[in-house]
Amino acid sequence: MPTKTGVLAEGKSKRLHTTEDPNLLIQEFKDDATAFNGVKKASIKSKGVFNCDISTRIFHLLEEAGIATHLVENLSATEQLVKRVDIVMIEFIVRNRVAGSLAKRYGMDEGPELPRPIIEYFVKSDELGDPLIGRDCAEALGYADFATIDECTELTLKINQLMLAFWAQLGVNLVDFKIEFGRDAEGNLLLADEITPDGCRLWDAKTNEKLDKDVFRRDLGDLSETYEKVAKMVADAIPL
Ligand code: C5P
Repeated sequence: MPTKTGVLAEGKSKRLHTTEDPNLLIQEFKDDATAFNGVKKASIKSKGVFNCDISTRIFHLLEEAGIATHLVENLSATEQLVKRVDIVMIEFIVRNRVAGSLAKRYGMDEGPELPRPIIEYFVKSDELGDPLIGRDCAEALGYADFATIDECTELTLKINQLMLAFWAQLGVNLVDFKIEFGRDAEGNLLLADEITPDGCRLWDAKTNEKLDKDVFRRDLGDLSETYEKVAKMVADAIPL
């Protein structure tokens, strides 16, 4: 059993620990929730447990479908053993419907389905507030080379197809989500970070009930109860 030797990085909802093995890290999910780039904060009961379980199961599903991920194994209710990667400094957001910052930017109502999934790139920087960036600009400013951007884009579309089908089977519309990639010591591009309701918009297909962090951002109800419900649905659908 690998043990923690230090904290490598701490983000808003997770902590990354080093281990004795330089190529392996422990990713710990915290109960903290933040919104609006850290302006709104709260501790949400058992959020770390729900998100660790949800992400572990979804990464398993994706691995089974041929997507390489950083996940090695689950270590505890809130911890995963993951491969150490050099993270790509771009967040890949895929959208199937109009919502969130897309709706705001173009003055649209949330909800309409897009004619095809669209991908947007955002700089991974809390300091800058994760600004939107174009492909050319991202390459020219050194955030990632074209080959990496294009490889990640292709993988993002593939993951979106798998995730759309998965959530549809649970009666949930996958509106949008954010993913991150990194390269391991051998140079392989891996899906990193997490896939949880913290970084996805999930709407009940029948009632449009929100099953994601918008419940917290918009004060729509009890986030812990929402995540517990999602964790149960995911656990029933993806046995480990
Ligand atoms: O805010 P926006 O509409 O651009 O978010 C699109 C999707 O990406 C949402 O599901 C949101 O939860 C996720 N996201 C994220 N981390 C960010 C920005 C967006 O997980 N820094």
